[in-house]
Amino acid sequence: MRVLVVEDERRLAMALQRGLRAEGFDVDVALDGTLGLAMALEGGYDVIVLDIMLPGLNGYRVCARLRAAGDLTPILMLTAKDGEYDEAEALDTGADDYLTKPFSYLVLVARLRALLRRSGRTGGQPIGVGDLTILPAAHRCLRGDDEITLTPREFAILKLLAERPGEVVTKPQIIDEVWDQADEVDLNVVEVHVSALRRKIDAPYQRRSIETVRGVGYRLVADAP
Ligand code: CA
Repeated sequence: MRVLVVEDERRLAMALQRGLRAEGFDVDVALDGTLGLAMALEGGYDVIVLDIMLPGLNGYRVCARLRAAGDLTPILMLTAKDGEYDEAEALDTGADDYLTKPFSYLVLVARLRALLRRSGRTGGQPIGVGDLTILPAAHRCLRGDDEITLTPREFAILKLLAERPGEVVTKPQIIDEVWDQADEVDLNVVEVHVSALRRKIDAPYQRRSIETVRGVGYRLVADAP
């Protein structure tokens, strides 16, 4: 996964580069908007982290020009809480998500992964857990040979669980990765969606593949008939 970080605060930019490299990303940094736009237009990035207040071109203009050029690389914009710019404007110019400074590094990584997932850039490899098959690129889910129709949200939750079979995924993690406005989502909403998923992928087949880990979250296991 190739990430472009466009950020003029050198220390922050370097810290992001180090941190994201440790997460396995390939990271390039641009310290101003003009260079950032040029690098982004060369293409090849899977996701762009874009500060708003930048010398040269500001983040809004970089974003708008990329979109005008038909470049749909997912963009996470960095906004400042007390700045004169706001989040709504970030989304208006074509950013996919935003994060307000100062932000937690863990949240940044989770948001980037969510963006990559939603954009289908994590690779469309089929994922199999028992006889459950998830085809990310085609947005399809199969139990054996049965096609199961899922809502986009249900699909995103199932895919998240399926990418970590046997591992517990917490409700906050699910919210962070599946919802855009994570801080507005109640934990109960996750339960509702998981119940709906179970009614589709488990109950009709007498399976219990989505296990509840009490007080923590859920895990997906291969449950044979
Ligand atoms: Ca800045």
